[in-house]
Amino acid sequence: MSITPLMPVYPRCGVRPVRGEHCHLIDEDGTRYLDFASGIAVNLLGHSHEGLIGAIQRQAETLMHVSNLYGSPQGEVLAQRLVDKTFADTVFFTNSGAEAVECAIKTARAYHQHQGDTTRFELITFANAFHGRTMATISASNQEKMHHGFSPLLAGFKYAEFDNLESAKALMGPHTAGFLVEPIQGEGGIRPASDSFMKGLRELADQHDLMLVLDEVQCGVARTGTFYAYEQYGIEPDILATAKGIGGGFPLGACLATEKAARGMGLGTHGSTYGGNPLAMAAGMAVMDAVANDEFLAQVRDKGERLRSRLEQFIGNYPDLFELVRGKGLMLGLKMKVESRPFYAHLRDNHQLLTVAAGDNTLRILPPLVADDAEFDEFFEKLSAGAASFELPQTS
Ligand SMILES: *Cc1c(COP(=O)(O)O)cnc(C)c1O
Repeated sequence: MSITPLMPVYPRCGVRPVRGEHCHLIDEDGTRYLDFASGIAVNLLGHSHEGLIGAIQRQAETLMHVSNLYGSPQGEVLAQRLVDKTFADTVFFTNSGAEAVECAIKTARAYHQHQGDTTRFELITFANAFHGRTMATISASNQEKMHHGFSPLLAGFKYAEFDNLESAKALMGPHTAGFLVEPIQGEGGIRPASDSFMKGLRELADQHDLMLVLDEVQCGVARTGTFYAYEQYGIEPDILATAKGIGGGFPLGACLATEKAARGMGLGTHGSTYGGNPLAMAAGMAVMDAVANDEFLAQVRDKGERLRSRLEQFIGNYPDLFELVRGKGLMLGLKMKVESRPFYAHLRDNHQLLTVAAGDNTLRILPPLVADDAEFDEFFEKLSAGAASFELPQTS
């Protein structure tokens, strides 16, 4: 037998963390890494947040899991808080981002089909999107590397150019049910949609009675300096998928919807065994307690601006390596003039700095939202040392 007990689907690197302290990860052999990856935008309170740990400990001792056959006092409280903080009137809890997007896709289709209109099932999605790894969510992305070996894909998705309203318009037809879009593409390279694009999608959805579905799995939950990124575009979606940061490291996601958008999601239409269990709700509440207030959000915006302006200054020293900085809040991308993956590995292996590589030769910088000047200083020490010691790939 040569297959590993862990199914070998990930190109895992040599970093093998066993412990976390605030914004650092400590490896099996004691090496300390500065974690500006945050488990890919998950650990927004860092790794040893007392409020989150305490909430999970207390709930674990009280009640971990019950079936959704029973009433959920814990779920009602967290759903109400999300409803109070957002455009939404109702919430379905999941255990992951892909499941949240799945629920969003089902909700958008059911919106039309509940009224008997079975012709409207198509969602227009966008090039280089990432929506997860289930069959529906890989089908929602045009990225062929995720499709290989998994045919047939789920029908009902059309791919337009990202941030290009005309391209989306051109794909609209009698089967269109709505749009599914990341306001800021994460895996695609920290690419924020423009205001006019997001407003344009909202207008098209209004004009044609379509669902505007946002995938805020990566950019949501305070990451960009507002509770959800859509707030910065001056629009509201009909449906929104959230996950990653919302549990602060505990597996939790949710599909948020307006009452109108959820009209097809009645009794028996959807479900999840674990979804919204008391332990997950306790984690979600602790995260909301920490981040869903004006003071914390203002700090994220402020830190984001400081980090961004320092990054912009920094890249001026290495005009051959870096092209630009983009993103919002503490969801920042460093677009490189060379392949970003070798530099990302160099920072990790030689300077103990964890970031995330992304599409479009971008390095994702996703610090825990509780990182501050001390961690930013350490980040720039490592980044500067890394840029100085990086050997540019030979060009022919
Ligand atoms: C990570 C991600 C997902 C999938 O989330 P999982 O929890 O891995 O299923 C979906 N959409 C976006 C934008 C993501 O970044």
